Amino acid sequence: MLSVYNTLTKNLDEVAPIEPDVIKMYSCGPTVYRDAHIGNLRSYLMADWIRRALEFQGLEVRHIKNITDVGHMRQEVLEQGEDKVIAAALAEGKTPAEIAQFYTDRFLADEASLNIIRAMEFPKATDHVAEMLEIVEDLVAKGTAYVVEGNVYFAVSEFPEYGKLSGNIHEAELLEAVRVDADPNKRDPRDFTLWKSAEEGREIKWPSPWGEGFPGWHIECSAMSIKYLGRRFDIHTGGVDNIFPHHEGEIGQSEAYVGEPVVNTWVHGQHLLADGVKMAKSTGNSFILSDFENQGLEPLAFRYLCMTARYRTRLNFTFTALKAAQRGLQRLRNRVREWSVSLQSTSNDGSAVEEWTGKFLDRVNDNLDLPGALALTWEMARCDLPGQTKLKIARQFDHVLGLDLDAAGDGRDAPDDVASRIDERAALRKTGDYIQADRIRGQLAEEGYDLQDGRDGTKVRVKAQWEMTEQQRDTVSSSAEVPSLIDMDDAFDFTIAVVANNYVGDVQRCVESALKWVGDRSAEVIVVDNGSTDGTPDWLDELADAQPAVRAIHADHTLGEGAAKNIALKQSLGKTIVMLDTSVELGGDIFDRIGEMLDDPNTGVAGPFGLRTDDLHHFHDGEGETGEMDAMQAYCFAFRRNRLRDVGLMRESFRFYRNLDIDYSFHFKDKGYRVYSDQSLPVILHEHRVWSDLAEGERDELSRKNYGRFLDKWGERTDLLASNQPIT
Ligand code: AMP
Ligand code: ZN
Repeated sequence: MLSVYNTLTKNLDEVAPIEPDVIKMYSCGPTVYRDAHIGNLRSYLMADWIRRALEFQGLEVRHIKNITDVGHMRQEVLEQGEDKVIAAALAEGKTPAEIAQFYTDRFLADEASLNIIRAMEFPKATDHVAEMLEIVEDLVAKGTAYVVEGNVYFAVSEFPEYGKLSGNIHEAELLEAVRVDADPNKRDPRDFTLWKSAEEGREIKWPSPWGEGFPGWHIECSAMSIKYLGRRFDIHTGGVDNIFPHHEGEIGQSEAYVGEPVVNTWVHGQHLLADGVKMAKSTGNSFILSDFENQGLEPLAFRYLCMTARYRTRLNFTFTALKAAQRGLQRLRNRVREWSVSLQSTSNDGSAVEEWTGKFLDRVNDNLDLPGALALTWEMARCDLPGQTKLKIARQFDHVLGLDLDAAGDGRDAPDDVASRIDERAALRKTGDYIQADRIRGQLAEEGYDLQDGRDGTKVRVKAQWEMTEQQRDTVSSSAEVPSLIDMDDAFDFTIAVVANNYVGDVQRCVESALKWVGDRSAEVIVVDNGSTDGTPDWLDELADAQPAVRAIHADHTLGEGAAKNIALKQSLGKTIVMLDTSVELGGDIFDRIGEMLDDPNTGVAGPFGLRTDDLHHFHDGEGETGEMDAMQAYCFAFRRNRLRDVGLMRESFRFYRNLDIDYSFHFKDKGYRVYSDQSLPVILHEHRVWSDLAEGERDELSRKNYGRFLDKWGERTDLLASNQPIT
């Protein structure tokens, strides 16, 4: 039987049904005021594989997945400023319930396209406020919760086992984790909200014994899991970020209410990453399933990709990996189709099917070892059993894998003229005219029909869209994929390095002005097209065709700013690298003066827009002066390429551009180089659209994150400040 890692016991626990032959499983479901990103979907896939593995072994699985349409939603909105989606929908005159329904429908469609088996129920938080209130009232009566001014809090000190799931037993850690809402009404900072009184003007609210209000986030899962699965159930799933505070809170509430443990096995899936960090909408590195459609890739390729890593391992998503998964899936399906047209006899193959299925279950039952199960599937595909037997085995495996291995179209839907051409081809083959026959096969292939000849005739498969869309241009998925030329000799005097992300007019203005003023010098222009979706990629390719000095490197999605710039830096071969922001335009020749400034061996960075600070907290511009500065703004940032050897590349944790330039300047200062500014350099600043197009809340949030990164590293280094340097 299936064993899984139980976060509560920290053991591999075998799933043993409480009620014979039935498993009751609860999965924390989506928050429905936005699309589920593919990281969320990875968590639901994990639960689906658990369910399929259990069902395959004869258990009935009662699966409940809640829909969070209040509570959590509000918490995030409060913490992150107004949500754009809600704001937009409200502006269109939609109600919160309509928004929730819209995203619930999209979520269900996403799950269906990933072959995630539908849960028995998808209860909504807003439909279960009465059940939540019942628990909260009970906790208040028992003294495990207390009321202050219409708010109800869970009293952590009254539940001695609090912390048993997450191990967050040290008060300091708990304080850290809850510091976002330092609520003066709480007796203990660890206490969390069960019920919150409605503020003036709030629309979504319910009556309660303590006045009108709305529930906290964790209470919904206690109420709905107990209602649908009972006071003791088998499995509870979620992503690792749910462990604390959400599931720790749920355990406190549910167990204080029921009086004993409620959940046997807690299973948590590790995160899906993108560009090396947790995928999250707020980080700006999230993808949704429809992003695959644009590239002609199937949702099930993502399912296959998730099987290549175990659920307790982080998995870094890239389109390169997704395309590899798509190819793997298609190859597997092609094999299955070959078997289905084979005619070898398959009597007495029951023992082979049983043997392979047994080996397969050994893998699956070992803490859901899907990479192992997938490897075994390929091993089976390559063994020398008759095709029809392999087909039977693959069908068995697919009950758990869920990859539609056997679903390749058989061409039944193909238009009549396709069928008649297939007949024509068969007739030609009979007469031995293989050349004409192959010509028809080639034509049909181009039209999207793949023919497979078997002994009992020809099958047709309609090609998937991704097989038809030809790769337009070479792309990269990460900076790690791009080789570094840092150790090679200089091949140019200058590299002009630009990162472009849409705003093709700006890109054009910037690059053309750079080409104009660099003139006949020995120079290359490297433009990293950072996942642009407008005309930028095409314009760059045309320019590169016409101008051999220009190179365009296309990222297949929008990488973080640090990563995108590093791609340009790694590929540079100029003695001097001049990084330009697409919002600037060169209004004259800057190159001689920059070269001259960098000839001074003490100078690391040169440019026109220097910044100064006295305390590392406030930076102000150099006020028209020429001289030593503390940082150089990214609008125009120049240095000698050989400095990369001791200064290193930019920090890729900076996804947003802001403060990355300051951080990188300090890398130079830390190595003993100064930052030198000459504000008379003719660089024209235009509207900085990346900034002006952001909402105020977003700007603050993104800037704050990067500033934290900067301060963590350099906050104590006042020794590096220009004002503390000896005058040279
Ligand atoms: P939410 O809609 O934010 O409540 O999240 C839904 C589910 O997705 C929860 O179980 C989360 O733990 C999980 N989750 C969130 N981000 C990720 C990620 N990057 N990778 C995997 N699971 C995630
Ligand atoms: Zn939950």
